[in-house]
Amino acid sequence: MHKRSFIVPALLASAALALSGCSAGTIASADGAATDLKIVATTTQVADLTRNVIGTASGVDLTQLIQPNQSAHSYDPSAADLTALGAADVLVINGVGLEEWLDDAIAASGFDGVTIDADTGITISEVGAGEDHAADETDARTDEADAPATADAHAHDGGDPHIWTDVHNAETIVQTITDGLVTADQGNASVFEANASAYTARLTDLDEWIRTNVDTVPESERLLVSNHDALGYFTAAYHIDYVGSVIPSFDDNAEPSAAEIDALVAAIKATGVTAVFSEASLSPKTAETIATEAGVTVYSGDDALYVDSLGPTGSAGDTYIKAQLHNATLMLESWGVTPSALPADLQ
Ligand SMILES: [Zn+2]
Repeated sequence: MHKRSFIVPALLASAALALSGCSAGTIASADGAATDLKIVATTTQVADLTRNVIGTASGVDLTQLIQPNQSAHSYDPSAADLTALGAADVLVINGVGLEEWLDDAIAASGFDGVTIDADTGITISEVGAGEDHAADETDARTDEADAPATADAHAHDGGDPHIWTDVHNAETIVQTITDGLVTADQGNASVFEANASAYTARLTDLDEWIRTNVDTVPESERLLVSNHDALGYFTAAYHIDYVGSVIPSFDDNAEPSAAEIDALVAAIKATGVTAVFSEASLSPKTAETIATEAGVTVYSGDDALYVDSLGPTGSAGDTYIKAQLHNATLMLESWGVTPSALPADLQ
């Protein structure tokens, strides 16, 4: 379940030693008249959503732990991360077990603030991508062949952690973050609430733009194959058939077996999928192999999807909204659709 538990404690133990003696004092100190709020956010997505709620609020400091293209599943916190966490008043996390490394990091840092869990109020899905198709295509396979895939797909006890991929979930997360920050910093309450309201209006426009464009494609042609099993909430929201994933697991560091690769190639051919999408934060190698075997297009490089990580500053996916627009635009193109113009507040 926690594959990296051998590596992390060793790293954290030394960092904890370096921190001892100062962390307790930092945490116990009173907030300077609600003008000094230290926030740490784990993933690129929750950090971006939090940043939009903070806006220009004064006296608020945000530290983002995971940087673009680092894996949220298997992140190794640095000593600087633990120092920031130990000094934080508020920690914003994705939840649903995505941050497998977090319990150790919290223990090592001495963090004693308030945790805002982005999965609050979200309906968590247990089902992986393409499970229906995999069953169709692999009825003849033995139980032994199925066992590793099943174990991987349920590596996260709490279900599918990729909740942000559904824009409605992002709206709920923004509300959860806003409620948490308002409680932590009453002095900035009206600023947080105004920012959240303006940003949520943009998210509503984002959802409408994606839905309107996806709706121009017949449902039977809305087929998706991605790099790992991370777009279940997105595909459910827009009635897209998630045929399968190169890595048939919620975790991005799993490896597909030869049988799983064969099954995906067969599913692509059987369903008429036209493209395999790689992810910007993952190697496109296996996706390219599968696309070649199945005789379909592979989207990689600048045309890869932003899924587990937003892109670096200046890239097409350096914010949550831009990443969603990038992903939806490429999917629409793969289905032969030229997307409509963006509303002004999304440009
Ligand atoms: Zn993932």
